[in-house]
Amino acid sequence: MVEQFDAIVVGAGPGGATTSTLLARQGKKVLVLDQSDWPRDKICGDGISGKSMDAIKALGLEDRLRANESLGSWGVTFSGPYGDEVSIPFGKQIAGKIAPGFVCAREVFDQVLFDASVESGADVRIRTTVTNLLREDGKVVGVRYKTPEKEVREARAPIVIGADGAYSVVARELGMDQLDEKHYVAAVRAYFEGVSGFSEGNFIELHFVDEVIPGYFWIFPMDNGKANVGVGMLSSEIKKRDVRLKPLLDEMIKLPKFAERFKDARQISPTKGWGLPVGSKPRTMSGDGWMLIGDAASLIDPFTGEGIGNAMVTGMLAAQWIDKAEEANDYSAAFFAAYEDEVLNLLRNEFRLSHMLQKLGRWKWLLNTVIAKASRSTELADAISCMFDDLSERKKLLTPGFYWRVLTA
Ligand SMILES: Cc1cc2nc3c(=O)[nH]c(=O)nc-3n(C[C@H](O)[C@H](O)[C@H](O)COP(=O)(O)OP(=O)(O)OC[C@H]3O[C@@H](n4cnc5c(N)ncnc54)[C@H](O)[C@@H]3O)c2cc1C
Repeated sequence: MVEQFDAIVVGAGPGGATTSTLLARQGKKVLVLDQSDWPRDKICGDGISGKSMDAIKALGLEDRLRANESLGSWGVTFSGPYGDEVSIPFGKQIAGKIAPGFVCAREVFDQVLFDASVESGADVRIRTTVTNLLREDGKVVGVRYKTPEKEVREARAPIVIGADGAYSVVARELGMDQLDEKHYVAAVRAYFEGVSGFSEGNFIELHFVDEVIPGYFWIFPMDNGKANVGVGMLSSEIKKRDVRLKPLLDEMIKLPKFAERFKDARQISPTKGWGLPVGSKPRTMSGDGWMLIGDAASLIDPFTGEGIGNAMVTGMLAAQWIDKAEEANDYSAAFFAAYEDEVLNLLRNEFRLSHMLQKLGRWKWLLNTVIAKASRSTELADAISCMFDDLSERKKLLTPGFYWRVLTA
């Protein structure tokens, strides 16, 4: 027997859980299939920025998230390749009592969204792997999947949403899995206990160390004295320089700049790697009977590495467009092209700017100049902090006059 649904969501991460929660709240019959056993970890920096928090608020889940184990963060510290350092509070909310950003283990954060999806009435099935798309007359009409008991089954719906992350099977099935190393970052992460020297406001730290540029080494403080520590780099650079990321992370914590802070620290998880498909080259996001959201659509910020917010924002937009498609009884590529337009209109400028900053990061002297200047220029410091916080302020960073002012200040 083939089951029939109004929508099938592949993946229950932040993107898939957002879409399925909203679709189920609209009263639709939604199937969610996720291959992992939940609660599940996702290799990540665990940084929850203002954009992700706005999406959490829009879903009405803020109190629930704050009740969980997480650490409020009030700003970001950058250090440059020649040792300059600047600590910048996150934008305007600094005067408030509630931290604008968080560091929260994905095992905890994603579970809040997963539970919301289940509670909204979506049919969520875990340890269930989608293997293929079903097609008729060139249209996607459903999925083939494997149950936890390894039985092969099929489910049908007028729309399939690929929310299955960086190694998306849905994107692969649609012929879009070619990895472009200039638009792909690889990163490794490990959890530590006992790292010292964090700032009072639990600032997250991005260190543009010589060996890692144009990527960065990060140290994010967490609840209970833990820290999320990792290193990420553009895949084309990794290949060109034949870099091994796991040994590179070991090397980073032994550098004189950090060794003292890790002197009494203990690694409490293995070092694990994962890919970041970045938004300097997003994938085609929709077609006849299908949509892609989040990492499956290659929507991670090329400079900050933040992708949770974009997964949730595209998850929300997908739910809105599916509602409109149901009303119009039109699930065609032509109809969903407007979804892709809306996503690109929203994110295009952010991606352009972040891609530009990622490229600027190759020039050590310029990176260092910007970091050194930021410690003296409030305008530049505000502009950098808005990368993680107030997105409307980012536009300023795209105007040449802004750089002229700060670099000649
Ligand atoms: C090292 C690293 C550090 C990062 N740091 C940050 C950070 O600090 N802040 C931030 O905002 N972003 C960060 N990101 C990016 C962030 O992790 C992703 O952008 C985010 O997880 C995307 O959410 P998603 O819902 O699209 O996909 P995912 O979170 O990857 O969820 C996809 C889901 O699909 C399921 N799935 C996959 N294949 C199948 C299949 N065939 N069948 C069924 N289910 C399937 C998986 O089990 C998974 O649950 C980081 C990424 C990496 C790799």
